[in-house]
Amino acid sequence: MVKIMGITERHVRIYALVKIAVAIGLFITLPFIGTKKPVTDLVDIDSLCRVEVEENSWRQIVIHHSATNGGDAQAFDTYHREKRKWANGLAYHFVIGNGSGSKDGEIEVGDRWTKQIHGAHTANMSINRIAIGICLVGNFEEEQAPTQNQMKSLIRLVNYLSDRYHIPKSNLIKHNQVAQKSTACPGKNFPFQTLLNGVSAFQVQAAQVHTKH
Ligand SMILES: [Zn+2]
Repeated sequence: MVKIMGITERHVRIYALVKIAVAIGLFITLPFIGTKKPVTDLVDIDSLCRVEVEENSWRQIVIHHSATNGGDAQAFDTYHREKRKWANGLAYHFVIGNGSGSKDGEIEVGDRWTKQIHGAHTANMSINRIAIGICLVGNFEEEQAPTQNQMKSLIRLVNYLSDRYHIPKSNLIKHNQVAQKSTACPGKNFPFQTLLNGVSAFQVQAAQVHTKH
């Protein structure tokens, strides 16, 4: 009985030590696991968006969802090329991943951006010629909503593009605001106000920084 108690007590002590070791291990590693940086924080948007050709004079930004659970620029490019028969492939200029296909928050640059040519992301060709198309992976009309990393990346990208091409906030629109055949895109769960708030916050910050110099 005593022996059993001894073993049990030793086990308890070992168990306690293991728990402490695990706790210390988690304490050290959790900041890296729990707050894994979105890809966008590690990426220089300016170099990501830099092109080797003459830049188009973009005047609008149109936000889309992919209406799929997952996917990436390559998958949509294949779909647009083979099913839609669009020779230029991927209809959007940028695709922002949700972790199912490309990384969560990863910004992929499409060929149409690299070549600075019109998108095929709305049914209105005059809009496609002047509007940058950004697609977030996910179906935000169903149960999904954009991930936090997707929204962070989107806000960073929109701020960069609106600043670079002097695109006013009023020209930042959702696909369903384009006058054409009706669409749910980018879905009822897309938090457009969050995007607008993010853009205005950036512009106020930028203005404040600017006045200091
Ligand atoms: Zn759309």
